[in-house]
Amino acid sequence: MVMEYAPGVPLLRPYINQDNEGFWQGVNRQELVFQRCTECGLLVHRPRPMCPRCLSTDREWVRSEGKGVIYSWVNFVYANAAYPGIKVPYSVVVVEMVEGVRIIGNLYDVTPDEVKVGMPVEVVFERIADDLTLPKFKRRIA
Ligand SMILES: [Zn+2]
Repeated sequence: MVMEYAPGVPLLRPYINQDNEGFWQGVNRQELVFQRCTECGLLVHRPRPMCPRCLSTDREWVRSEGKGVIYSWVNFVYANAAYPGIKVPYSVVVVEMVEGVRIIGNLYDVTPDEVKVGMPVEVVFERIADDLTLPKFKRRIA
Protein backbone atom coordinates (compact mmCIF):
# COMPACT_ATOMS: atom_id res chain seq x y z
CA MET A 1 0.00 0.00 0.00
CA VAL A 2 1.28 3.42 -0.92
CA MET A 3 0.00 6.53 0.83
CA GLU A 4 -2.52 8.46 -1.21
CA TYR A 5 -2.83 12.21 -1.17
CA ALA A 6 -6.21 13.78 -1.84
CA PRO A 7 -6.13 16.01 -4.90
CA GLY A 8 -6.83 19.67 -4.28
CA VAL A 9 -5.83 19.65 -0.62
CA PRO A 10 -2.65 21.62 0.09
CA LEU A 11 0.24 19.37 1.09
CA LEU A 12 1.79 19.77 4.49
CA ARG A 13 5.27 21.11 3.74
CA PRO A 14 8.41 21.22 5.84
CA TYR A 15 9.48 24.55 7.26
CA ILE A 16 13.05 24.86 6.02
CA ASN A 17 15.48 27.01 7.97
CA GLN A 18 19.25 27.36 8.38
CA ASP A 19 19.36 24.45 10.82
CA ASN A 20 17.54 21.86 8.72
CA GLU A 21 18.23 22.94 5.15
CA GLY A 22 21.12 20.45 4.86
CA PHE A 23 18.70 17.65 5.75
CA TRP A 24 16.25 18.68 3.04
CA GLN A 25 19.02 19.22 0.49
CA GLY A 26 20.03 15.61 1.21
CA VAL A 27 16.46 14.43 0.72
CA ASN A 28 16.34 16.22 -2.63
CA ARG A 29 19.48 14.24 -3.63
CA GLN A 30 17.74 11.09 -2.31
CA GLU A 31 20.20 10.82 0.55
CA LEU A 32 19.24 10.59 4.20
CA VAL A 33 21.71 12.71 6.17
CA PHE A 34 22.02 13.49 9.85
CA GLN A 35 23.65 16.37 11.61
CA ARG A 36 26.91 15.54 13.40
CA CYS A 37 28.71 17.74 15.87
CA THR A 38 32.26 18.27 14.60
CA GLU A 39 33.43 18.94 18.16
CA CYS A 40 32.28 15.79 19.99
CA GLY A 41 30.91 13.62 17.15
CA LEU A 42 27.35 13.31 18.45
CA LEU A 43 24.77 12.51 15.77
CA VAL A 44 21.62 14.56 16.18
CA HIS A 45 18.18 14.39 14.68
CA ARG A 46 16.17 16.57 14.36
CA PRO A 47 18.63 19.22 13.24
CA ARG A 48 19.26 22.06 15.67
CA PRO A 49 21.56 25.05 16.05
CA MET A 50 23.64 23.63 18.90
CA CYS A 51 24.95 20.26 20.03
CA PRO A 52 22.88 19.10 23.01
CA ARG A 53 25.94 17.43 24.56
CA CYS A 54 28.82 19.90 24.21
CA LEU A 55 26.93 23.04 23.08
CA SER A 56 29.14 23.49 20.01
CA THR A 57 27.59 25.21 17.01
CA ASP A 58 30.02 23.50 14.59
CA ARG A 59 28.29 20.76 12.67
CA GLU A 60 28.36 18.78 9.47
CA TRP A 61 26.07 16.46 7.53
CA VAL A 62 26.81 12.76 7.30
CA ARG A 63 25.05 10.24 5.13
CA SER A 64 23.01 7.56 6.85
CA GLU A 65 22.99 3.92 5.78
CA GLY A 66 19.24 4.44 5.58
CA LYS A 67 18.49 1.34 7.66
CA GLY A 68 16.72 0.98 10.97
CA VAL A 69 13.91 -0.70 12.87
CA ILE A 70 10.50 0.55 13.87
CA TYR A 71 10.71 1.90 17.43
CA SER A 72 7.06 2.99 17.69
CA TRP A 73 4.11 3.63 15.44
CA VAL A 74 0.54 4.88 15.19
CA ASN A 75 -2.07 4.07 12.56
CA PHE A 76 -4.48 6.71 11.37
CA VAL A 77 -7.73 4.99 10.41
CA TYR A 78 -10.38 7.67 10.98
CA ALA A 79 -10.42 10.51 8.49
CA ASN A 80 -11.34 13.13 11.08
CA ALA A 81 -8.23 12.31 13.13
CA ALA A 82 -5.85 12.41 10.19
CA TYR A 83 -4.27 15.16 8.16
CA PRO A 84 -6.96 16.15 5.65
CA GLY A 85 -4.77 15.75 2.57
CA ILE A 86 -3.86 12.14 3.23
CA LYS A 87 -6.26 9.28 2.69
CA VAL A 88 -6.64 6.83 5.58
CA PRO A 89 -5.48 4.33 6.59
CA TYR A 90 -1.80 5.20 6.92
CA SER A 91 0.95 4.72 9.48
CA VAL A 92 3.32 7.15 11.12
CA VAL A 93 6.41 5.47 12.51
CA VAL A 94 9.38 6.34 14.67
CA VAL A 95 12.40 4.58 13.21
CA GLU A 96 15.52 3.92 15.24
CA MET A 97 18.31 4.14 12.69
CA VAL A 98 21.41 1.93 12.87
CA GLU A 99 23.36 5.12 13.61
CA GLY A 100 21.33 5.48 16.83
CA VAL A 101 19.15 8.47 16.04
CA ARG A 102 15.39 8.28 15.67
CA ILE A 103 13.36 9.80 12.86
CA ILE A 104 9.64 10.07 12.22
CA GLY A 105 8.20 9.11 8.86
CA ASN A 106 5.55 7.25 6.97
CA LEU A 107 5.60 3.67 5.82
CA TYR A 108 5.71 2.87 2.14
CA ASP A 109 4.16 -0.31 0.83
CA VAL A 110 3.28 -1.70 4.29
CA THR A 111 -0.35 -1.95 5.41
CA PRO A 112 -1.21 -0.67 8.91
CA ASP A 113 -2.06 -4.18 10.16
CA GLU A 114 1.47 -5.34 9.26
CA VAL A 115 3.30 -2.72 11.32
CA LYS A 116 5.30 -4.13 14.24
CA VAL A 117 7.82 -2.75 16.68
CA GLY A 118 11.22 -4.07 15.64
CA MET A 119 10.31 -4.42 11.95
CA PRO A 120 13.45 -3.79 9.89
CA VAL A 121 12.95 -0.89 7.49
CA GLU A 122 14.99 1.18 5.07
CA VAL A 123 14.52 4.64 3.69
CA VAL A 124 12.90 5.32 0.34
CA PHE A 125 12.29 8.68 -1.22
CA GLU A 126 8.87 9.53 -2.57
CA ARG A 127 8.36 12.55 -4.75
CA ILE A 128 4.87 13.67 -3.82
CA ALA A 129 4.92 16.95 -5.77
CA ASP A 130 7.13 18.54 -8.39
CA ASP A 131 8.99 20.38 -5.64
CA LEU A 132 8.56 18.07 -2.68
CA THR A 133 10.26 14.78 -1.92
CA LEU A 134 9.78 13.02 1.42
CA PRO A 135 11.85 10.33 3.10
CA LYS A 136 9.68 7.35 3.95
CA PHE A 137 10.37 3.80 5.05
CA LYS A 138 9.71 0.42 3.51
CA ARG A 139 10.11 -3.08 4.92
CA ARG A 140 13.66 -4.39 4.78
CA ILE A 141 14.67 -8.02 4.67
CA ALA A 142 17.11 -8.21 7.59
ZN1 LIG B 1 28.99 18.10 20.50
